[in-house]
Amino acid sequence: MVYDLIIIGGGPAGLSAAIYALRARLNIVLIEKIAVGGQIALTDNIENYPGFPSLSGIELMQKFEEHAKGLGLNIIYDEIKDITDNGQYKTLRGVNESYRSKTVIITVGASPRRLNIPGEREFTGRGVSYCATCDGPFFKDEDIAVIGGGDAALKEANYLTKIAKSVLLVHRRKEFRAEKIIQEKLHNAKNITMELEHSPVSINGGKSVESITIENVKTKERKTVPVKGVFIFIGINPQTSFLKNIEKDADGFIKTDHYTLMTSMPGVFCAGDAHSKKLLQVATAVGEGALAATAAEEFVCDICN
Ligand SMILES: Cc1cc2nc3c(=O)[nH]c(=O)nc-3n(C[C@H](O)[C@H](O)[C@H](O)COP(=O)(O)OP(=O)(O)OC[C@H]3O[C@@H](n4cnc5c(N)ncnc54)[C@H](O)[C@@H]3O)c2cc1C
Repeated sequence: MVYDLIIIGGGPAGLSAAIYALRARLNIVLIEKIAVGGQIALTDNIENYPGFPSLSGIELMQKFEEHAKGLGLNIIYDEIKDITDNGQYKTLRGVNESYRSKTVIITVGASPRRLNIPGEREFTGRGVSYCATCDGPFFKDEDIAVIGGGDAALKEANYLTKIAKSVLLVHRRKEFRAEKIIQEKLHNAKNITMELEHSPVSINGGKSVESITIENVKTKERKTVPVKGVFIFIGINPQTSFLKNIEKDADGFIKTDHYTLMTSMPGVFCAGDAHSKKLLQVATAVGEGALAATAAEEFVCDICN
């Protein structure tokens, strides 16, 4: 069987693409490797998606999934390992089986960037975490540290102030990049302290995390602060290393034509966090999913005629 369109990834971009493609009556399938929802399902609260002033990431993604399933979306759980161009169709090699499709939309998103400092890998799952909603409750009334200065770091730090005894926010710059409204909320929290112009150099402990050592980026002076948990939000890496035949930039983000979001492989499009842009958010992922699905529909029509 040859599908009209295969969407790889079931986050906001993938589900948005699915809704547009199903309404265009394309014969599609969405392939997801873990669970539908993507990264946003890991956050406690989203407040900047239009129409929904405040709801959890999981709730928002359940609405996306219900919408797509209501249109007849078929989801297959598999991990795609490779795409090859066979001319009239592409072959997608999954862990479980192979799939064929006239067009493909890559919406594989991203995964958390690592600090790559001593102790990080060793204590992952034993005090080091990349998900406040998943692991925050384990640190009730404990002292913890949050690393980062962007939207995700400050938003998750704010959530953690409601659980932990104290939150130490460590950021290597003098100023935060996060939205001003998120910064204002954080300044209202009583149990947060900030170490600006500091970088973490090691996470220390025995069986689990006991402290973090941070360094002043200017003076190089170091200090060690006792904490039971370290939450890291320093950006993301696109999950694109499996795509060998498609052009990417130096950071691994997939390059596309800006008008249709087509990649260097004809008939293969990319939307969402896997594609480099100024703002990596649900609103931009959703817009790109819609655009890529519309462009894929045109591509299918063109090869039929
Ligand atoms: C902690 C945190 C808080 C955030 N808060 C906000 C917020 O408040 N507001 C906001 O707008 N944005 C927020 N974001 C950003 C937002 O989550 C992302 O911009 C958005 O999820 C990107 O959607 P996506 O569909 O491109 O990718 P993702 O959400 O990353 O989804 C990609 C999907 O593809 C799947 N996949 C990956 N590789 C494969 C493969 N080879 N085969 C099959 N499936 C695969 C993954 O399992 C995943 O389900 C936050 C992000 C984080 C980490």
